[in-house]
Amino acid sequence: MKINLISDTVTKPTQGMLEAMMSAEVGDDVFKEDPSVNQLEDKIASMFGMESALFFPSGTMANQTAIKLQTQPGEQLICDKYSHIYNYEGGGVSFNSGVSCRLIDGDRGMITANQVKDAINPPDFYHSPLTTLVSIENTTNKGGGACWDFEELKAIREVCDQHSLKYHLDGARLWNALVAKSETTQQYGALFHTISVCLSKGLGCPVGSVLVGSKETIQRAIRVRKIFGGGMRQAGFLAAAGIYALDNHIDRLAEDHKKAKEISTLLASLPYIKSVAPTETNIVIFEIDEQQRSLEDFLNSLKQNDIHIIGMGQGKLRIVTHLDYTDKMHNAFMGIIPQL
Ligand SMILES: *Cc1c(COP(=O)(O)O)cnc(C)c1O
Repeated sequence: MKINLISDTVTKPTQGMLEAMMSAEVGDDVFKEDPSVNQLEDKIASMFGMESALFFPSGTMANQTAIKLQTQPGEQLICDKYSHIYNYEGGGVSFNSGVSCRLIDGDRGMITANQVKDAINPPDFYHSPLTTLVSIENTTNKGGGACWDFEELKAIREVCDQHSLKYHLDGARLWNALVAKSETTQQYGALFHTISVCLSKGLGCPVGSVLVGSKETIQRAIRVRKIFGGGMRQAGFLAAAGIYALDNHIDRLAEDHKKAKEISTLLASLPYIKSVAPTETNIVIFEIDEQQRSLEDFLNSLKQNDIHIIGMGQGKLRIVTHLDYTDKMHNAFMGIIPQL
């Protein structure tokens, strides 16, 4: 039995999701005539209490569009050093928007309002780039699925308002944070200028992300999406998967979190594991103590058992639980690991 824990993007559509996709009503979304895409966009916009939403083929494109819309070339955005927009979007911030990143040394991918305040360049000091955007991530990917304290997010919004900065949320795994912290989409919609969410991670869709914002912002986002090559035609088949996932796959994220916590506790009990990061959602980040056991030996014995995980660099390893990681796989995993 293959146990694939490299990411929560490895899931395949469930039977119910496939049926929703097969029976989707579709049209040409470039002409805004796909009823399923329109329905998904309306549904997400109203979940967040925001005016409009736009369907994207990837989270990267949704984030990059948000950055493009809220900056001008030469300006600077503020984000944590672990940010996906900085580390894993191919340099798109500079490529697409001509913008630099002021990196903050945060805690597991999370920064404070004071750190943001200190990182803003004085607008009348024309030698340094003009700061115009703050981008944060919840949950944090490289930070091990950590969830923000909502009060800190509010404090950052205040700093943004005082300095006329826009505020973007990379919410690829926001669903996990909402479930873990019993928060609501409405709370987040009230706080940010733009929010991107992924349907293809914990929610188990094959493809798709959505950007939410004001009517005016999303109107401009359609043009940027077109320029980035993201205008899709009968995308309703994919949107139908998204609608199905929003109705059926959010609450069950708690199961992924429970499994991840059990894995985290088990790993922490093993003599050759040096450290396990606090596990709040579905991501477990840990390090091997190479005095006790070589990384190579550990990874080889996982491979022999058809268990797949991923390295994060600097000796860190990552496990991500998801919809297709079944109870049966979990029981097998928990039995195999102590014997490796
Ligand atoms: C996965 C992810 C994205 C988007 O990735 P795509 O593969 O382009 O859909 C954005 N931000 C974070 C934090 C992610 O984990």
